[in-house]
Amino acid sequence: MAFGLSEEQRKFQANAREWAQAEAAPHAEKVDITGEFPAETIRKAGQAGFAGMNIPHEHGGSKVDGVSYALAIQEISRACASVGVILAVHNSLGAFGVYHFGNEEQRKRYVPDLASGRKVGGFMLTEPEAGSDASNLSTTAALDGSHYVVNGKKRYILSGTNAETFVLFAMTDKTKGAKGMSALILERNTPGFKMTGRHDMMGVRGCAPAEFEFTDMRVPRENLLGKEGEGFRIALTLLDHGRIGIGAQGCGIARAALEASVKYSKTRIQFQQPISKNQGISFALADMSARTDASELLVWRAAELKDSGARFSRESATAKLFASETARIVAERAVQIHGGSGYMKGSPIERHYRDAKILEIYEGTSEVQRIVISGALLS
Ligand SMILES: Cc1cc2nc3c(=O)[nH]c(=O)nc-3n(C[C@H](O)[C@H](O)[C@H](O)COP(=O)(O)OP(=O)(O)OC[C@H]3O[C@@H](n4cnc5c(N)ncnc54)[C@H](O)[C@@H]3O)c2cc1C
Repeated sequence: MAFGLSEEQRKFQANAREWAQAEAAPHAEKVDITGEFPAETIRKAGQAGFAGMNIPHEHGGSKVDGVSYALAIQEISRACASVGVILAVHNSLGAFGVYHFGNEEQRKRYVPDLASGRKVGGFMLTEPEAGSDASNLSTTAALDGSHYVVNGKKRYILSGTNAETFVLFAMTDKTKGAKGMSALILERNTPGFKMTGRHDMMGVRGCAPAEFEFTDMRVPRENLLGKEGEGFRIALTLLDHGRIGIGAQGCGIARAALEASVKYSKTRIQFQQPISKNQGISFALADMSARTDASELLVWRAAELKDSGARFSRESATAKLFASETARIVAERAVQIHGGSGYMKGSPIERHYRDAKILEIYEGTSEVQRIVISGALLS
């Protein structure tokens, strides 16, 4: 493995940075204050090719290698963490989920709209009684002729206010436990589909997670992804992919907080000198930099392994675990280095601090990543 980026990857990163600074960064504060889903920015991201990064060109996508995908999510998250995670979930769990597990008919019907960003994709696994224990779903899908009749509740579904196409997980045979779970492609306009509320949050406030209730919702049988009983395997496979994106998001938030801290520490004068002249500050910057570099390398390793076709569950869990904790630690240090000004509303530093925390929770908590990693070590 080369420990650096290729020329092509560097160029892609520079383009993603330019796009993110021009289109996402200027709205980041407003998205944070209002908590509104940044629909216009996501539409533009689609036009710029950031909605179909895991989908081949012949299916309407803009496929790039795994490291480039991670670089794009990093740069976009560095500008606006809400836009970053919306695109990460859309690319890795929504669009890729339908493409990777879909048959030709499903790909033709759903993938072009997702890959172009005309429709936003979502992932419906979590329920009130099924969080970390995602196999414990209560939502059922009972076959009735040409349709599955779905009943149940989902919560914390990212982009829930705006997404139009979801990968939905439900039990088709409760007696079989996790092996009785199936995945369905769900369209928002399906009769019986109801959004019952949206969640207000501490950070990533624009990613608009919502809760849902399904009452005798009829999903066509042809919307089954893969085979009946494969739902849990599909969910875990997609989460392996998704965690690379969340790791990349952690790198983006950490980079933003680190760069701002370097700049501020060189200009803030106390005791007649820049605060960076104190080793208490400069050593903190060194630690922030080391953790951020290490996070990037772990994310790139997982992404390269994914592209090689090898198993990468442990590596994506490791990248997600380390980069999430790094984002939180680096953002916290950044607040400290900025003093009172880092604590004030309107400061991006205060926003990074709040945004960073969720990375340790969604797409599997840090404890769940440790379960995955230790399970691989001890198997
Ligand atoms: C903003 C946001 C967006 C989200 N987006 C989506 C989405 O789009 N789609 C979706 O399906 N879900 C989504 N989620 C759900 C998310 O994945 C879950 O919140 C997460 O998996 C944890 O589940 P929980 O919140 O029910 O916590 P719980 O599972 O109840 O966990 C509570 C605490 O117990 C710990 N814990 C649980 N079991 C163990 C164990 N065996 N060993 C050690 N510790 C343990 C956890 O790590 C955690 O610290 C989102 C959540 C949030 C907050």
